[in-house]
Amino acid sequence: MTEPADNRPSDFIRDIIVEDLKSGKHKSVRTRFPPEPNGYLHIGHAKSIALNFGIAKEFGGVCNIRMDDTNPAKEETEYVESIMSDVRWLIDGWADTHLGGAPLYTSDYFDKLYEYAVDLARRGKAYVDDLSPEQTDEFRRTAKESPFRNRSVEENLDLLGRMKAGEFPDGAKTLRAKIDMSAPNIWLRDPVLYRIKHAAHHHTGDKWCIYPMYDWAHTLSDYIEGITHSLCTLEFEVHRPLYAWILEALELPPPRPRQIEFARLNLTYTVMSKRKLIQLVNEKFVSGWDDPRMITIAGLRRRGITASALRSFAYNIGITKYPSLNEMETLEHAVREEFNRIAQRRLAVLRPIKVVLTNWPNDKVEELDAINNPEDASTGTRKIPFGRELFIDRDDFMENPPPKYFRLKPGGEVRLKYSYIIQCEEVMKDSSGNVTELRCKIDIDSKSGGATANRKVKGTIHWVSAAHAVDAEVRLYDRLFKVPEPDADGDFKSFINPDSLEVVNAKLEPSLKEARPNERYQFERLGYFVLDPDSTQDRQVWNRTITLRDTWAKAAKK
Ligand code: ATP
Ligand code: MG
Repeated sequence: MTEPADNRPSDFIRDIIVEDLKSGKHKSVRTRFPPEPNGYLHIGHAKSIALNFGIAKEFGGVCNIRMDDTNPAKEETEYVESIMSDVRWLIDGWADTHLGGAPLYTSDYFDKLYEYAVDLARRGKAYVDDLSPEQTDEFRRTAKESPFRNRSVEENLDLLGRMKAGEFPDGAKTLRAKIDMSAPNIWLRDPVLYRIKHAAHHHTGDKWCIYPMYDWAHTLSDYIEGITHSLCTLEFEVHRPLYAWILEALELPPPRPRQIEFARLNLTYTVMSKRKLIQLVNEKFVSGWDDPRMITIAGLRRRGITASALRSFAYNIGITKYPSLNEMETLEHAVREEFNRIAQRRLAVLRPIKVVLTNWPNDKVEELDAINNPEDASTGTRKIPFGRELFIDRDDFMENPPPKYFRLKPGGEVRLKYSYIIQCEEVMKDSSGNVTELRCKIDIDSKSGGATANRKVKGTIHWVSAAHAVDAEVRLYDRLFKVPEPDADGDFKSFINPDSLEVVNAKLEPSLKEARPNERYQFERLGYFVLDPDSTQDRQVWNRTITLRDTWAKAAKK
């Protein structure tokens, strides 16, 4: 075993692992990430992935992906593929040596799991029950023993074999563990281990008509894979005695896995469960699982959030045993913090309004120097063209501004970023009174190096040269929900933010023609942007990943 990394975060799970290695209970660490392939992964899964793969990485161990595919009805190959692509993206370059390539499947263990079931029945610790599913629930709730509980071992083995052979219809029989019908913990009241379901399975086809239940499959899959620490979310705490019982009842030789629970990630301004996310997709509130407003990994990725920002978020929120609600701002902060360091700055205008510089020659074009990233001098500078006609953002001009408005107004002055000071002389309007064009005068000496270069004006705004601008579609996103806890009460869908997407036709500085899909750009004063896969040769489509500042905090103060 290699030594744990020095920069390992500290939490109660890692403390347990250190202890288990010290005591010799385990010689190495093996974890797993066990998604059920019935939907796309979300940011909660990212927490689990960061934890499981992170631990394997820190302790020189292994983490494998296991498709928890015991339910033939709900699982689809599309989901297996999306899960693999999301996990690979999230851990790429960080923990991929531990991935071991292909995912493992619970369904690959169906033979083995069945042998264990036969073994359990042979030990007199499982029985075939004829109660209906409803009766079984009812009897368990009321701590009542089934009349079939005391069948002989021979009869149980015979019936189990015939269940497997397909002799009985769906729901006619189950295999149940024989534990304790009066146990205070309902999970120990003879839980169902196998049910009959005549349905094809995405991985095993028609081979099986009985399928193992979660606890049986999960516990024994962990054992089969040699998992040392089986990390799951808090709702499984009540299952833990059953987990231990299964390993013990079969007298499985050590080392045995140990289940440890931690609090799932809950986040404000979103819903998290796959069951709810799938409704947003099916009912067309969003364009798909990878809609950039979704907190699916695919959505966050398309939105432009990097794997490293997501991992750093997952690491920083920490691991605890107590349910909690994390702030969306924490994620946004992780993104802004990283992007401020890595994103190249560019000029772009989202809602263009034309500016004509009356004292600039018609066809004169000047190349100005612009800084690529003030946080990273090594990225240098680039040239941006400047001419007689420009675009500025509509938001940067007001005809009747309030006091302290330091952008452009009639008669007012403003500095153009990396460029000159201009003064607005005339406001042109169409017949319905909309501003169509601003006529401005330029102070030629106000450029860097010029006679009045150091003259101060209060505002600086961004711009692009009209003759050189690239047209692009830009998608501006806001939170998908209006309230911090959309599923606290009522229908979560009634809290959807109707303004979560705005599409604008923007003007970009010409260097962005060469933009690359895996790069992040800061459009100065507007936020961080990334190219969307909808882009074509002829027309770019951009997503705003996030604004520069938290506009929600400002709104909340008001
Ligand atoms: P959901 O309830 O959102 O549909 P799930 O728990 O059914 O999710 P699984 O595919 O069964 O989804 O989860 C795979 C792994 O991810 C499990 O180990 C589960 O505990 C973990 N996980 C799921 N949701 C979260 C979350 N919000 N925070 C942390 N871990 C999570
Ligand atoms: Mg689940």
